[in-house]
Parts: sequence; structure tokens; C-alpha cells
Amino acid sequence: MAELSGKSVYITGGASGIGKAVVEAFIKEGATCTVLDRSADGLRELEQQLGDKVRTITGDVTVYEDHQRAVQCAVEAFGKLDILVSNAGVFDAFAKFVDVTPEAMSEAYDMLFSINVKGSFFAAKAAVDALKQTRGNMIFTVSGAGFYPDGGGVWYTASKHAQIGLLRQLAFELAPDIRVNAVAPGGTLTALSVIPPLRPFVNIVDNETKAKSIKRRNPLQIAMEAEDHVGAYVLLASDKARAITGEVLASDGGLVVRGL
Ligand code: NAD
Repeated sequence: MAELSGKSVYITGGASGIGKAVVEAFIKEGATCTVLDRSADGLRELEQQLGDKVRTITGDVTVYEDHQRAVQCAVEAFGKLDILVSNAGVFDAFAKFVDVTPEAMSEAYDMLFSINVKGSFFAAKAAVDALKQTRGNMIFTVSGAGFYPDGGGVWYTASKHAQIGLLRQLAFELAPDIRVNAVAPGGTLTALSVIPPLRPFVNIVDNETKAKSIKRRNPLQIAMEAEDHVGAYVLLASDKARAITGEVLASDGGLVVRGL
């Protein structure tokens, strides 16, 4: 039987990469999805591919009203909201702290924390009342960088630690009504974008180099693809996880056994 039959999902950053793979997997499992993304082209493709199982909102996760529009759209189109997946994010491409000028550091901080951290605060706030009504759940996309060094530079690593703090406190405050968990993917072959203020300080590598570097960094030596993580999201979203809250499920090729 489908694990998410009849569930209504709101997901951010679902037009590409891990978010898109989650949308496809959730729909296969019987859910409907409302997707917020800043890529209007990506959303148009998603609508063509998935038809009436999906609703899309072109917007920005740093704008609270865009989340409100998305939650309202999910409730109007599908009658309720059961699951929030706060997934949109951006990267610092391992920019080195010592190389970056104070001006670029500040601009990078504002931009990356607004998207990766404030975006999750806003998504949770906009969805909380609707999720209370269904005793639903939230899932944040964090990262191996939420636990270990060498998964990004200081901006990305600090932002992923911050999201884990947000999910743990929310899991505490929202129990017993709403479960709050996260998936922590390891390095994955996607188009994860590097924020403009840090681009002068980093080398943007091609996909083959990226695949080699991802393989080298995880004990299972997998060049992970977005689809490799969807099982973790389906489990946490489903009623099979009804006793799980405040958890981060690592889907990272075994970073924990590196012994850092
Ligand atoms: P991606 O670029 O393929 O997907 C991210 C999506 O978010 C894109 O569709 C993009 O348009 C959207 N987005 C970005 N900023 C936005 C904004 N301000 N408002 C609305 N939409 C916005 O990248 P991905 O790798 O699939 O990233 C998804 C999540 O996975 C991120 O939170 C990222 O930190 C996390 N993650 C990625 C990796 C990796 O190696 N790719 C590893 C661990 C965690």
C-alpha cells in the first residue's frame, strides 16, 4: 500500500535536485504536493510532468507572505496540510574563511542565512496552524555539514547547525501535536547553487570532479544522487514514523563511521 496516500504536502525548493526527487517519490506514494520555488521554469516543467497532483507557487523562501500563499494554496487545492518539507537551500562551495573579505563575508552571511535558516523559520511558522489541525509533521533538509566539518565552508556549515537547533526546539515545543524531524544528505550530485558574494573566492568544479570528491568523502564511496535520499523522507513523513520526533536521519554514505 502507498505510504502517503491522501497526504497533502508543502515543499520548498521542489523544482530541482533533492526536492524534486522528493516530490516525485511522494506523489508515487499517493500524496499531493504544493511546491514553492524561485525557478518559474523548473516549476512549469514539474506541472507538465505531474499534472493535477501538484500545485506550484513561484516565490522566495525569504519572503514570509510567499509561504502563506503556498500554505493557503495547499489547503484550498487539497483540503488540508499534513506535511511540510523545508528543503530550499544554497551553498558556499567551501569558500575559505581567511580568503574572504569582511564585506563579502557579511553579504554572504545575510544571503545564505536568509535562505537556509530564515527560510525554514518562515516555512514552519506559516505551516504550523494547518499542521496542528491534521497532527502532521515537518521535515527539514539539513546536511552532513550540520554535524561534521568538511561538508562546506563556515557559512553553509553554521547554517546547517542552525537548522538542526531549530528542528530540535520546534520538536520540543510542538509535541504532542506535530512531529519535527530532518534528513541529512551527504554530498549529492545536484545543481546546488553557490551564492554570488562568494563566487570570486571559490572554484566551481565540473560534475565529474564533484562525483570523485563526493565518493572520496563518504565511507560507502557513493557518488550520491538526489533519488538516493527519498526513502528517508518517505519514512519520516509517513505514519510508520509516528513515534519519531526531534531526529535527524543521516543519508550520507556513512559519515558517522569516519570517526571524526
Ligand atoms: P538544487 O539547487 O538542485 O535545489 C534547490 C532548489 O531550491 C532549487 O530548485 C532552487 O531554485 C530553490 N531555491 C534556492 N533558493 C531559493 C529561494 N530563496 N526561494 C525559493 N527557492 C529557492 O540543490 P539541492 O542539492 O537539491 O539542495 C536541496 C537541499 O539539500 C538544500 O537545503 C541543500 O543545502 C541540501 N543538501 C544538498 C546537498 C548536496 O550535496 N547537493 C547535500 C546535503 C544537503
